[in-house]
Amino acid sequence: MKQSTIAVVGAGVVGSTTAYTLIMHNLASHILLVDVNDSKCRGEVLDLSDVLSFSSTATIETGSLSQAGQADIAIIAAGIAQKPGQTRAELLEENHRIIRTVIEGMKPLRKDLIIIVVTNPVDVLTSVAQQASGLPHQQVFGSGTMLDTQRLRHMIGSACAVAEESVHVHVLGEHADSQVVAWSSACIAGTPLLEMKGITADMLESWAKQTRAKAYEIIACKGSTAFGVAACVAAYCTNILFDTHRITTVSTYVERYGLYMSCPATLTAQGVGARFLPPLSPIEKDALDRSAQVIKDALIAIGAR
Ligand code: NAD
Repeated sequence: MKQSTIAVVGAGVVGSTTAYTLIMHNLASHILLVDVNDSKCRGEVLDLSDVLSFSSTATIETGSLSQAGQADIAIIAAGIAQKPGQTRAELLEENHRIIRTVIEGMKPLRKDLIIIVVTNPVDVLTSVAQQASGLPHQQVFGSGTMLDTQRLRHMIGSACAVAEESVHVHVLGEHADSQVVAWSSACIAGTPLLEMKGITADMLESWAKQTRAKAYEIIACKGSTAFGVAACVAAYCTNILFDTHRITTVSTYVERYGLYMSCPATLTAQGVGARFLPPLSPIEKDALDRSAQVIKDALIAIGAR
């Protein structure tokens, strides 16, 4: 693999956990950590540098936004995080300002830079990042509902005694309360989940509810979530750097709605490739329309549409 640089903007809980995960997965030769809080950033870099002996990553350094703009991949995890009981939407105003500042500070951007947005509300802010960057849609995507999808697959897999990667189901739409599970296309080894013995409507409802609620529960218990999203971001970077064309859930530009929301798509060396919005039942389609409207309303509220 050629030498690569991944910049992580935001050295908070998510950013530093992501940097750790990237190092332990040997995903980049060089990692840059960028934060407005110089002391925190330096502390995280010093701490993370102790991990280099156990990895193929050569360097981890503090960097500037303009250096992040010249990386192969820039991960944006800068911004305020949810407090217990708070929704992701409540972060919008402050994090909108921060995302714009970050993207402006990163300019001029490398033409083939790939930006992965993690900051919430992630669908709206990925749209803002793409517009502000001027990069093509395929090069800017958000972490979206990959984590929700993985959580759901894990629950279904445990209940059916099947490994989660063999459970094919996707959480679509907003990475928040309006998200939609595409149950009508869910399957295990080609068998539709809705036709499997022992799977009841109550079970589906309970799994969808637990998927929506899990982040709230983690934040109520320990104040933040980090490990799951860091693992998702590391998987995104693997798929990009190894040009895998593997299908994963990303917050990407969906033509049908003209905005960023989560749907399954391939990831390639150029970013997001083909998008695959699964066939939906009329009820699921209505729910996805409502989810898109929630994202659209937020974009309108901040003047980004
Ligand atoms: P945190 O408070 O621990 O860290 C945020 C960091 O951003 C801080 O270190 C802060 O100094 C830095 N920052 C603020 N403004 C900046 C700027 N202009 N430039 C550079 N750095 C700046 O928060 P966290 O727990 O790491 O969460 C970060 C974001 O990630 C939040 O918005 C959170 O909601 C989101 N998040 C998303 C997911 C997901 O699945 N998409 C999961 C978890 C958290």
